[in-house]
Amino acid sequence: MTENWIHESLYPTWCQSFKIEKMLIEKKSAFQDIKLFETAYHGRVLLLDGVVQVTEKDEFPYHEMITHVPLLTHGAAKRVLIIGAGDGGVLRHVLMHRTVEKAVMVEIDADVIDLSKQFMPQIGGASWDDPRADVIVGDGIAYVAKAEDASFDVIIVDSTDPIGVGEVLFTDAFYQECARILSPRGIIVNQCGVPFMQSEELEVTSRRRRQFFPHVSAYVVSMPTYVGGFMALGFASKDAHLTLPATSEIAARAQAAGLNGDSFYWSPDVQHAAFALPPYIGRCLPQR
Ligand code: SAM
Repeated sequence: MTENWIHESLYPTWCQSFKIEKMLIEKKSAFQDIKLFETAYHGRVLLLDGVVQVTEKDEFPYHEMITHVPLLTHGAAKRVLIIGAGDGGVLRHVLMHRTVEKAVMVEIDADVIDLSKQFMPQIGGASWDDPRADVIVGDGIAYVAKAEDASFDVIIVDSTDPIGVGEVLFTDAFYQECARILSPRGIIVNQCGVPFMQSEELEVTSRRRRQFFPHVSAYVVSMPTYVGGFMALGFASKDAHLTLPATSEIAARAQAAGLNGDSFYWSPDVQHAAFALPPYIGRCLPQR
């Protein structure tokens, strides 16, 4: 291929490639290699250490599902902790819920925040300046180790893969602290990769979460630029009886939260159906 193509370097034997219209930023931050470029179809694309994090074109399935599902399953979440997510997409979607009183976001790399604000401003939108938002530059594991017991209702982990700086967010120590700082009905959702290519990510981390959470499951989202079929989002809650709400209940909670039917992927039916796992994914979960 010609030199204005870029190849994702996540897997040793398979990759997706983008034709670059214009390279906007290429830099090494204190934590990772950052590339942000313009494409004709996907809009602007952010790569960290050679791995696609977000594209303007398909950010919506991931952000809607990683956010609306835990908040509406909980049903009364007021305090939300977001780990990673430097592009601002999770923060924006969390703050769409008028029922949320406080959203703390802890991202390790200030460059990811600054460059996302500068080059992909609509992903975070006005959420950066929302008075309910508290954006902290720091390591997620250090933050959870110091946070008070039962201080959050929902934790959303929008991390890089378990390589490099994101690795600590997939450890026993991290999940144990998350369980401690969640309120009694608390829920944690983690990005767990694409099981067709990365089944261990869901298998190993679900086993780890199971040590600290009585209820562990997962749900799926189809993300075009996380190639390899469904992506898995790990779901764990402290309340074993917190079951999947009926579709009508999800719809009622969404309305109360002020979600105005302007989503592109999430809907009450999609939320419910997302927990129906193809067996090759379901088998990655701890069997009772
Ligand atoms: N949606 C993307 C995905 O699933 O591939 C992830 C996007 S988001 C940009 C991931 C962010 O996690 C990155 O900005 C990275 O800097 C941040 N991150 C990685 N390790 C971290 C840590 N230990 N504490 C806080 N943030 C971290």
